[in-house]
Amino acid sequence: MTKKLETKTYTAETIKNICLEAGADDVGLVNLDRESLEKEREGALYVYPLARSVISIIVTNNRENLQSPARYVANEEYHHTGDKISELSREILRRLNRIGIRGVVVNKGWPMNLDHFPGKIWDVSHKIMAVEAGLGHMGLNRLVLHPKFGSAIQLDSILINGVMDQYDRPLTENPCIQCNLCAAVCPTGAITKGQPFDLFACSTHTYRDNMTGFQNWVEAMVTSRDMTEYSTHFNNRETAFMWQSLMFRMSYRCSYCMAVCPAGEEIKSDYLKNKKDHVERILKPLRDRPEPVYVVAGSKAEARAKRNPNKEVRIVPAMIRTPPK
Ligand code: SF4
Ligand code: SF4
Repeated sequence: MTKKLETKTYTAETIKNICLEAGADDVGLVNLDRESLEKEREGALYVYPLARSVISIIVTNNRENLQSPARYVANEEYHHTGDKISELSREILRRLNRIGIRGVVVNKGWPMNLDHFPGKIWDVSHKIMAVEAGLGHMGLNRLVLHPKFGSAIQLDSILINGVMDQYDRPLTENPCIQCNLCAAVCPTGAITKGQPFDLFACSTHTYRDNMTGFQNWVEAMVTSRDMTEYSTHFNNRETAFMWQSLMFRMSYRCSYCMAVCPAGEEIKSDYLKNKKDHVERILKPLRDRPEPVYVVAGSKAEARAKRNPNKEVRIVPAMIRTPPK
């Protein structure tokens, strides 16, 4: 007969204090056996078979970096905060180890489970865990919006073997104020009010210097007869972008929906007091920024990108294509 593993119960207050003292900006606790996580359990248990609870933490980004039209500044902020939250999760786990809790820190983002490519390459959705942990709700921009910090946050999840005396539940109110600014700034139409989020349109453009564009880049190099043909696929600037992403970590081409979002106590009242200023200062420089927008021919994204005279529409192959036999 298999001996059942003993699971100790801890107070939620103790665990949360450990997370906050270590440097998390907010934390929520989720029991993995709740009904709403039925579809998430398999992935979490694959990563850590002893998982009983999930600690969801957030760390805030410097909002003004995210809003800058100098996108390399925003990119550095994503990476810096990403490193910070990854390190923090490990520190929290070390502190939990000292009181007898074992667990696994799940990667904040990349690298992911490419064994499953082109299917679902993440085992644990930090967004779903954060919502279940009461840290926010997804807004129209499909980002988790925290009631205080809005969209200027990064998420991480720690799977642990301990059980808590109390767990958190999703918030009753969504911090999204339905201002529609994210849809107005979105160059690909991935966000359109009343329509499902178009992940394909978003990733084709935003991930141009990540996996999506990388596959096109390899294909362009392999199939081009000479540099003239190669440069019809990737011009000098695009080659430089790819080099930068590979050398210094990925450049996101967009994330404007995060930059313009006025949800969250920290920013909402200023926005509501002077909406015009917010639009002039934050939305317009991004919406009117001259830049290429990467779209697949015939897509809704192409039609949307063509409506903005400041954008150069670049037609690119779809990400997943069957290689020639
Ligand atoms: S990242 Fe850019 S393309 Fe993607 S949804 Fe946000 S605004 Fe639209
Ligand atoms: S920009 Fe406005 S509509 Fe879009 S997610 Fe933020 S609050 Fe919601």
